[in-house]
Amino acid sequence: MIIVMKPGATKAQFNHVIEKVKEYGFQAHPIVGTERTVIGCIGDERGKSQLQALEVAAGVESVMPILKPFKLASREMKKERSVVKVGKHSVGGSQFVVMAGPCSVETREQILRSAEIVKAAGAQILRGGAFKPRTSPYSFQGLEEEGLKLLAEAREKSGLPFVTEVITPTDVPLVATYADMLQIGARNMQNYALLKEVGRVKKPVLLKRGMSSTMKELLMSAEYIMSQGNYDVVLCERGIRTFEDYTRNTCDLSAVPALKEMSHLPVIVDPSHGTGVRSLIPPISKAAVAVGADGLIIEVHPNPEAAYSDGAQSLMPKQFEKLMEDVRKYLPLEDRHL
Ligand code: PEP
Ligand code: MN
Repeated sequence: MIIVMKPGATKAQFNHVIEKVKEYGFQAHPIVGTERTVIGCIGDERGKSQLQALEVAAGVESVMPILKPFKLASREMKKERSVVKVGKHSVGGSQFVVMAGPCSVETREQILRSAEIVKAAGAQILRGGAFKPRTSPYSFQGLEEEGLKLLAEAREKSGLPFVTEVITPTDVPLVATYADMLQIGARNMQNYALLKEVGRVKKPVLLKRGMSSTMKELLMSAEYIMSQGNYDVVLCERGIRTFEDYTRNTCDLSAVPALKEMSHLPVIVDPSHGTGVRSLIPPISKAAVAVGADGLIIEVHPNPEAAYSDGAQSLMPKQFEKLMEDVRKYLPLEDRHL
């Protein structure tokens, strides 16, 4: 249920409503917008008649059910678009945010060099995995905490905040002490214990769509994170499995405007995992701008041939530079800037 407060409602009226919501056994999630304040009430729907009765409370405009299974993530809950801060950057506003870097952190030299390269080309956030969820247990699994330290050093030297993946609930506090943004990978999109854990920390979360997940399932996973009090969730379309095998995945660009119809959360596109084919990354990046994406996450490696993971889909430095030049040309058409 959503309780919509009247535009001139006082703080005391608002506090009274919150108290009542809690008394009836619901969690209260207030969202203070520029036009109105709403209170999302999450809990056992059987108690909803008590909530409905709050319609006559002072300062309340209306009490409405949220029809979608995802509540806090829904457009019904919040009409304005959410903006998620990562360092000094804002994902979801007029800024178009590009996250770039290698698939995995491999060596000190490699990550420091990667940060320099992506920064020089105009990326605002560095990416790099320290904990890698690999399909094979015999593949490189990541440098773990040593990788996080190297990312922190790259941040210090380049000034770029970084996003990195966390793959187990127990690692969340460790990764959160280093990272500016926590990535939940496609393979973990429905790891509910992990989602709840990242929901309890005060760090923005990049939630990638599972390779066989529907948009609704992606939004239900966002709901898990938000239900714990962390509303700073950015959704990421990273390609889904289809019968097509020329590409690694089928990048579902229709998911960008569709998710925006259903949700107020920002949406970015990962054309690297989305296609798995280096040559397809620049055109899909440009298309992502046109469909209204709030940013991109792209794999770039100083020497892709030597990469420990995802070398075939990693852009060479010059290719990334060119991609950024092209993206820059398209952004004004969508009223966006880097
Ligand atoms: C990654 O970003 O390197 C990654 C493993 O992505 P995904 O979870 O989308 O496969
Ligand atoms: Mn990768």
